[in-house]
Amino acid sequence: MEPSTDPRTDPPASCRRPELGGSRARNAVVVAVANQKGGVGKTTTAINLGAALGAFEKRVLIVDCDPQGNATRGLGAEAEPPHLYHVLAGQKGAREAVQQTGFAGLSLLPANHELVGVEVEFVGTDAWELRLRRAIADLLPDYDYVFLDCPPSLGHLTVSALSAADQVLVPLQSEYFALEGISALVATVRRVQARVNPRLAIGGVVITMYDDRTLLSRDVAEEARRHFGDVVFKAVVPRNVRLAEAPSHGRPILHYDVKSRGALAYLAVARELMGRLS
Ligand code: ADP
Ligand code: MG
Repeated sequence: MEPSTDPRTDPPASCRRPELGGSRARNAVVVAVANQKGGVGKTTTAINLGAALGAFEKRVLIVDCDPQGNATRGLGAEAEPPHLYHVLAGQKGAREAVQQTGFAGLSLLPANHELVGVEVEFVGTDAWELRLRRAIADLLPDYDYVFLDCPPSLGHLTVSALSAADQVLVPLQSEYFALEGISALVATVRRVQARVNPRLAIGGVVITMYDDRTLLSRDVAEEARRHFGDVVFKAVVPRNVRLAEAPSHGRPILHYDVKSRGALAYLAVARELMGRLS
């Protein structure tokens, strides 16, 4: 398969499905939620898009790839050992580390600060960037979607997630300089495509924290669409205080305030994602 070259002209990754396995079971689509900026809505998107797909009766696994463990805590979980560190260290199988969240369809492979150890211990060892991919391979037939919630950097954990993913989903905050740094992300995607994961595609850009009263939000959305075309989801996620509150209750928005604009937005993004992949 040809590595893609231009997010503006490539078809949404949509069009690429992981191959069918020998059985009728289809492997999960693995989606890395990445943007090296912090606070743009990666974790919020992983949790709430995951939960929305769960509500549509999809089987979803969220892998917390950030030592901050925000996805873990945002789902009301604790990274009791074994967690992702132990899996990447080869001490435990991924299946042993997976927790059920109690939210429909949603499982979690948790992480905590110990994950920083991965860098010093393994980076530079043979095929370090494939450890995550290999570790979760066995789980893929059990799920429809796997979301890899990346940390705010283009470092080893993000590279590992990109190496394991079929597609990248980029949350873009409606703020000044939103697109700044995106070229570095795209360059990292290209490098991973060229070196270890030719099937990786930029599957989507989700505009987050959108405020339709401001010209700024509209400008950012317009510029993103000019730059990425149809890769940008039609549904945008508004700035919504209920979305910001939900993680402190350890709940996805659908299980916190189902009628909020944030919940409706992530349901719309989920519907769009399913449509792209069908
Ligand atoms: P990242 O994972 O990219 O660092 P987060 O998803 O943790 O970003 O979001 C950063 C902060 O903004 C969090 O406090 C989160 O609750 C809040 N937040 C995210 N999306 C929204 C939104 N659409 N409306 C309001 N607050 C949001
Ligand atoms: Mg995060």
